[in-house]
Amino acid sequence: MKKFFSLSGLVLLSYVGYAQAPAPGWQQQVEYSIDVALDDQQHMLNGREEIIYTNNSPDALPYLWFHLWPNAYRNNETAFARQQLRNGSRKFQFATQQQRGFIDGLDFRVNGQPAQLVPEASSPDMARLVLPQPLAPGASITITTPFRVKIPDSFSRFGHVNQSYQITQWYPKPAVYDQKGWHPMPYLDQGEFYSEFGSFDVRITLPANYVVGATGVLQNPDEQHRLDQLAAATAAKKTQKDFGNDLSFPASAAETKTLRYVQDRVHDFAWFADKRFNVLKSGVTLPSGKPVTSWVLFTNKDAEKWVQGLQDVNKALTYYSQWVGEYPYASATAVDGALSAGSGMEYPMVTVTQPAAIVHEVGHNWFYGILASNEREFPWLDEGVNSYVENRVAELDNPVAGQLEFLVKSPGLATKLGLDGLPAAALNQVPYQAVAARGLDQAVSGVASPDYGKLNYGIIVYSKTASLLKYLAGYLGQEKFDAALRTYYQRWQFRHPYPADMQAVFEEVSGQKLDWFFRDMLATQNRYEAAVSDLLVQPDAVKVLVRNDSPAPFAVPVATLDAQGKVLEMQWTPVFGGTKDDEQDETQLNFRRAGVASVVVDPAYLTPQLNRRDDQLRISGALRTWEPLQLKPLASVERWDRNFINWLPVVGANTSDKFMLGAAFYNNILAPKRLNYLAMPMYSFNRRELNGIGSISLNVLPRTVARQLLTGILVQRFERYRKVEPSLTLMLPHSAFGGPQHLLRFANTAVRDQDLRQTSSFQTLEYWVRHGNALQNWSGHLEFNYLTPDLSVDNPSREAALLRATATYGRYYSAKKQIRARLFGGYFLKSSADNPFYVGLSGSPDYRRQTAFLDRQQISDTFTAQIHQTDDRDGAFKAYLPVGSQRWLSTLGLEADLPVTSLALFADFGAVSRSRQIRPGDQGAQTLYYDAGLVLPLAKNILRVYLPVVGSQYTNGLPGSRKDFTDRIRFVLHIEQLNPFRLLDEQLAQ
Ligand SMILES: [Zn+2]
Repeated sequence: MKKFFSLSGLVLLSYVGYAQAPAPGWQQQVEYSIDVALDDQQHMLNGREEIIYTNNSPDALPYLWFHLWPNAYRNNETAFARQQLRNGSRKFQFATQQQRGFIDGLDFRVNGQPAQLVPEASSPDMARLVLPQPLAPGASITITTPFRVKIPDSFSRFGHVNQSYQITQWYPKPAVYDQKGWHPMPYLDQGEFYSEFGSFDVRITLPANYVVGATGVLQNPDEQHRLDQLAAATAAKKTQKDFGNDLSFPASAAETKTLRYVQDRVHDFAWFADKRFNVLKSGVTLPSGKPVTSWVLFTNKDAEKWVQGLQDVNKALTYYSQWVGEYPYASATAVDGALSAGSGMEYPMVTVTQPAAIVHEVGHNWFYGILASNEREFPWLDEGVNSYVENRVAELDNPVAGQLEFLVKSPGLATKLGLDGLPAAALNQVPYQAVAARGLDQAVSGVASPDYGKLNYGIIVYSKTASLLKYLAGYLGQEKFDAALRTYYQRWQFRHPYPADMQAVFEEVSGQKLDWFFRDMLATQNRYEAAVSDLLVQPDAVKVLVRNDSPAPFAVPVATLDAQGKVLEMQWTPVFGGTKDDEQDETQLNFRRAGVASVVVDPAYLTPQLNRRDDQLRISGALRTWEPLQLKPLASVERWDRNFINWLPVVGANTSDKFMLGAAFYNNILAPKRLNYLAMPMYSFNRRELNGIGSISLNVLPRTVARQLLTGILVQRFERYRKVEPSLTLMLPHSAFGGPQHLLRFANTAVRDQDLRQTSSFQTLEYWVRHGNALQNWSGHLEFNYLTPDLSVDNPSREAALLRATATYGRYYSAKKQIRARLFGGYFLKSSADNPFYVGLSGSPDYRRQTAFLDRQQISDTFTAQIHQTDDRDGAFKAYLPVGSQRWLSTLGLEADLPVTSLALFADFGAVSRSRQIRPGDQGAQTLYYDAGLVLPLAKNILRVYLPVVGSQYTNGLPGSRKDFTDRIRFVLHIEQLNPFRLLDEQLAQ
């Protein structure tokens, strides 16, 4: 069945004049002829390729760089293997040889002469082909080689799941040589593409009952007829029930077929083969009258969604052709495939994808396929620009389309969360705001794909680029923006544009210098803020003074609203401000007076502002910027027309306060503001007292050197103590990605014991460093404390100074099993017999009240603090040994996860200074201690139970009775790991 829908009412546009100017520069040309056979028993490809390489550059080339990307899956030494660890995956690291892949059997000849292939030492998936003679400018050579490829399991994109094959990046391919020289690159998950344009003639031999989706035009009439028949059969099915749920693989046919695909003006060739595929066929007619056939190939899984998916292929072909430029190829295919990286991946004319990503993946034919920018260096040029057009397609049917649309789909939920009435643009910016407000963002342009944080690759490259382009379209006007985009497409199609090339076209078509956008806004981490500075109301005009509080110039839309909040008039400021001069940082706009109740900067949420509380100003009244505070659960999105406090219910318990019930109130958890507060009152039903936590902190994001500077004060009351702790925290370096992370902190802690009527004081200076990947990680912690037991007594001999150092190392020995080591040393720089402070062998005396002990006051028989609960600081012995030192103490702790079970083994060794050792009833006898036993991880990282089997805590090293053993069982409870503020911070920093 074939279904066409056509575009009507499309205006012929005036951009044609611009488009005729050719793109400057030259480009290499590569023509491929490949024979390949699939062995679906051994999961191998056996092939032979012939390449005609034409050197259009002005340079003689003594060698060509080649990509041999199946070798990315060869071993753990490849760039791909390292990137997997960096991004948190151990799957490939611990894969068996049988699961991995490679390419071999290469025998390169150039014009028939043997040519030497020199593999790159750091990356076995790159090699230099040394030519027998340098290739002169304008000359061509014929390169031939046989090859054999072992198809890996699905670790990334090239791979197979059983007999379902995703054959991408599979043949030897020259790297790009352009005006900037060679671009050899190892295969990576992030930033896959940069290839030379040319033509492909590919013959694929495989068992006859496979269905294949591929780049290029199928040349076999028999197979075309077979696909049409399959499509007719599939079209008769409508519901999931019609398709059934059978996902088993039929046996492979004994006879084979050879399918031939031919295509020019593409830079890659991918194919996908599966014996189970259902086939659907449709098509569109483009405005020029050109027909394009669309296909979807899918298994019975999610079949119903794929039936809808066929319409998404048509939608992408239609709207991208309309907004960007006409699709130049004869067909477009979307294939259902198992990917272990992302929800879909684009290849010329064919994409492997899930149904939800079809528009995006088909859209990549324009941004990646036809405008073939360097994705490794400038991923925003394909992913970001494509996401912008994709969002526009999605918004045709759904005005709130975007990543958070599930929150606003139900009007009830949207109102509860304070999201009602927000446009998609506001919601799409939330992920950016969340990282930027923590100093975790990265620039859109100028950061190479592998250097982005795992989440930032999506948040910055895709979402932020799309949001900023929507903003630029608002500034330039949609028509002018579209004309520029079409001109960019016309001029650079089948070429390799750089960001400067896109900027040049946009400047030419718009007639404006756009450095402020392409250079300042895209290529820096500048944080933009604007505000309504002042208003002057005249009889027939409202004069508005708009202020740019950003470090760079930009333009903002400003609107007047009536009393109901409806936009009356909209104007854009010119590009202004970003100077240190107050006068230049303001600009004036004049609006009509009639009906105006207030003025708003950026009512439609186009600008990347983090703070919108100063975006609205009423023209009269006492509280011209104030919005009444609204209480909303959980979290809110920053809005110019609402002022939120968020809240969450909290419960707590310990043996002193017993059960506590309360609520946490805070101003923003998603995107911290400059000033953040938390008030968490908790009522103790036992003591009939109000406990809780309160904090205020100032969040400063330096532009260089450091990432974040937090200055704050914490007040805390539980268990009849009160703690007040001002502190200063500095996080380094400026980038949270790619290197060790450092933290420097100063705190001044005062703890008032309300029963003893005594206040202790502690000054702390501490330094943390940590680094690691999914395979191994290490950390260091150095802490200096000055301790005063009672501020009301001036007795220097009771004061102490303590230095503590901790180092940790962890390494996985299989995908899920780890060994951990911890080395600790504590040393008193100043101490005397009078002072009450010591450093403990079995956890720390928690002077600063950092740990939530269930029974700090030692009231209970079951959970006695220190005896049964450890905070795994200081000596961190898992067994309870009431040993401490006022001199020095050092321990080594080891833990190893056991194979098969979820249990782990532990062992601790400690040395404690003989002099001034604290050991009730047994003064200073021993210097060496040990323990060992089993760990029961009840809730990973939150609750672990320790069963000490042997150790110094037992007479003769072994338990004397069962009770002796069970009495000494201990646990560690890291309740702070459940803190949603902390969880969010940790997730975003990945
Ligand atoms: Zn994409």
